[in-house]
Amino acid sequence: MSSNVTPDKQIIGREIRLASRPAGEPGPENFELVRTEVPQPGEGQILVRNTWMSVDPYMRGRMDDAESYIPPFRLGAALEGGAVGEVVVSRSEAVAVGATVSHFLGWREYAVLDASAATVVDTAAVPAQAYLGALGTTGLTAYAALTEVAPVRRGDVVFVSGAAGAVGSVAGQLARKLGAAKVIGSAGGPAKAEKLVTDFGFDAAIDYRAGSIAAQLAEAAPEGIDVYLDNVGGDHLEAAIGVIRHGGRIALVGAISAYNATAPVPGPDNLYRAAYKEATLRGMLVTSYLHLFPEYIERAAGWLADGTLHTEETVAEGIAQAPAAFLGVLRGANVGKMLVRLDGIG
Ligand code: NAP
Repeated sequence: MSSNVTPDKQIIGREIRLASRPAGEPGPENFELVRTEVPQPGEGQILVRNTWMSVDPYMRGRMDDAESYIPPFRLGAALEGGAVGEVVVSRSEAVAVGATVSHFLGWREYAVLDASAATVVDTAAVPAQAYLGALGTTGLTAYAALTEVAPVRRGDVVFVSGAAGAVGSVAGQLARKLGAAKVIGSAGGPAKAEKLVTDFGFDAAIDYRAGSIAAQLAEAAPEGIDVYLDNVGGDHLEAAIGVIRHGGRIALVGAISAYNATAPVPGPDNLYRAAYKEATLRGMLVTSYLHLFPEYIERAAGWLADGTLHTEETVAEGIAQAPAAFLGVLRGANVGKMLVRLDGIG
């Protein structure tokens, strides 16, 4: 059955396609902005006018023609990723016109998808784009990492890398809520390092560009660390292993320092310390923790409402700026969540 179907009208929308695969660091030439006719939704489908889309570091891996946990982007086809938007046509009883939904067909102004692939979100108390950040898989990644993968216990010393970014800035605050006695963050540059302490509530901050990470971490945590949430890999992981305490837990969340690498990246040279400290290094994919979403959203929505979870966004305006926003997130142009606003701009 159809419901809420607006009269047929040909909509033209723009989308970003993969023009070529990068060798090493991607550039604007790898993307193409195309105007395209948006198809009418079929039975059981909805047409969504996207208002916000997410750009995320993992998308770099999808630009390569390489086997991973998620298929590569196809050459010449529109990219994909998290987005939120307004339902403008519905041919499903389950989702009404006017609803705000989150879904996975970003990188385009209009998306046609099965209603079952969209989640209606509640925007009464939070803006829609929160579901791409603190209330989305970004926040859930931090929560799952620190509750299940490398659980924080009362009194722990916790270290977070990529700490001024989307996952990291939430993680530092969650660590405190979960009982950490001390939370140390690492970010690139003095301004971000200062922000970690003044705005995101870290006890100490490391500017990894300012010198040896290992030396700075040893100074910030003379007693060692119990938990490390690794967004970066490389020298950061080695430095964390270098100060891990007995029974320490490390969540391997990301390795952004190697995402553009064109040659094999050396591993930590001190793994034996993890052995004799009986530490746990455990990888994670947020998609394995989606069952935690209801519990997490309930808690995080409360923290956002009472102001005890501070979030920030870096916003690019319009679909044409989406590639630049994505290239920027790989280089650290963001504080908090990097987003693209699609609301008829640009
Ligand atoms: P983000 O932290 O908001 O943005 C990426 C940040 O990485 C940049 O802002 C930049 O900050 C930092 N960076 C870039 N190159 C670096 C380098 N060579 N060394 C150190 N830092 C570097 O991104 P996010 O979405 O929150 O993701 C953070 C990490 O979590 C990524 O590795 C991502 O792949 C991973 N992740 C994993 C999962 C999962 O399921 N396992 C889910 C979500 C995210 P600076 O200015 O501080 O350098």
